[in-house]
Amino acid sequence: MTPKLKTAHLFIVSATAMLLFAGCGEKYAGEWRDRCVRNLGQLEVAKDQWALEGRKRPDDLPIQSDLVGEGKYIKNMTICPAGGQYTLNIVDKLPECSVPSHKLEK
Ligand SMILES: [Zn+2]
Repeated sequence: MTPKLKTAHLFIVSATAMLLFAGCGEKYAGEWRDRCVRNLGQLEVAKDQWALEGRKRPDDLPIQSDLVGEGKYIKNMTICPAGGQYTLNIVDKLPECSVPSHKLEK
């Protein structure tokens, strides 16, 4: 292949990859959201148990190691499939994901 052809070829390959990636992103976005919301639900259940057992107040703030780990409410920290960051929040507030569409409804 001449260098020019090679560049054109690479361009086509990367354009195709980008199209495929964009398509997958849309296809999986809903699935990611569902999985993330399930994770948030798990965190909320763990928080509730932690609050109940520790007689916590509504404005008490758990840290990850209160809820997650060997012998805790959740064995391994759940992660957002879309790469969002979780905020546990105070007892009275639902845990949140940094991806705006990943929202746990009460
Ligand atoms: Zn998320």
